[in-house]
Order: sequence, then C-alpha cells, then structure tokens
Amino acid sequence: MKKILHKNNFNSFEIQIKGRVSKCAYNKEKTIIYISPEDNNDSPNSLIVAAHEASHALNYREGVTNNSLLKYLEKSYLSIFIGSVILIFVEFLLALLGVFQISIKLINFLTYLNFFLTPIYYFYYTRDEAKTEKRLIIELQNIWNENDFDVNLQDLKKINKKRLSKDIYLVSIVAVPILMLIPIGLQQGVIKILPILPISSSF
Ligand SMILES: [Zn+2]
Repeated sequence: MKKILHKNNFNSFEIQIKGRVSKCAYNKEKTIIYISPEDNNDSPNSLIVAAHEASHALNYREGVTNNSLLKYLEKSYLSIFIGSVILIFVEFLLALLGVFQISIKLINFLTYLNFFLTPIYYFYYTRDEAKTEKRLIIELQNIWNENDFDVNLQDLKKINKKRLSKDIYLVSIVAVPILMLIPIGLQQGVIKILPILPISSSF
C-alpha cells in the first residue's frame, strides 16, 4: 500500500492497524488508513484490501469521487433512516399509552424522504466502491514488477471480480429496495394497527 501511494506522490498518510473493517479516512492534510488486524498479513485478500484502501485515497484526492459529498450523503441518509424508524416506534408507544400523537404527516414525509435518499446514497457509494475496485488492479499492475509477491496477478483479478459483483449486486439489487421500504412499511403497519388497538381511555 505504501508503495502504491508513494508511487502516486501521495505522501501525507498514516496507517493504523485497528478496527473490524478496513477503511480510508481521507483528509487533504492527513489521510488515515485503517487496516483491520485480520487483513494485516500476506494473503492475496489482504493485498487486495490494502490496494483497495490506497485506491480510495487516490480517487478522493483526484475527485473521481467527491469525498465530502459522499460523507454528506451518508450522514443525511443515516440520520433520516434511523430517525424515521425511531420516530415510528415512539409514535406507536405514545399512541399505545394514549398520551400524545406525533404528526403522521411528519413521519410520512421522513419515510418518503428515506425512499428517495436511499438509492441516491447507495448509488454514489457503490459507484465509489466499483471505481476503487477497478483502480486497485491498475495500481497493483503498476508496482507488480518491482515486487516479488507470492501471489499470481490472475488470482487477484478473480478475487477482485468477485468483490466487485458482490458490492454491486448485493448492495444495489438486494439491500437498497429493502432499505427504501423498511420505514414506509413500518409506518403503514403502525397506521393500520393504531385504530384497532384498544387505546386506553381510562387516563
Ligand atoms: Zn471501499
């Protein structure tokens, strides 16, 4: 990884071996690349992971992916998703107790916002991952001859292809529709259940 970054004149970075997943925290001044302890060895998979995180850093620096936009989309998406799910539960509990009703319009608005924001965020996210996976092969090829890796470049390409299809198909085709519909489904469920609940009138 160091070789890839230095070869591309990317020098202000630090590598930390920690965390459950490897990731790249890009910053113009100083990028920190976290490599999880299980990815810190000589296996082909670890080589791919290291090249992947280095490629993220390069793609962010070159604006292939706008890192601030990605972070911004991630934050808004997560807050709206988590916020709407929590609000629906609170709405349900409060209605059960017969205390107070949260505006159904507000919750409906959040669930539809989540519906539109989920595909936008995941589209940008998978696009970033896909571009990173493609770049890592190019970067590995560039440093290949200077190193004697005990792995075969063809094997790496196979692993890389698998990762790429897992990212794209699993995330976009399976996860995105589910995540788009969870808050809407919950909210519609709650709206249907509420009128038939024996909401206490003894308060
Ligand atoms: Zn990545």
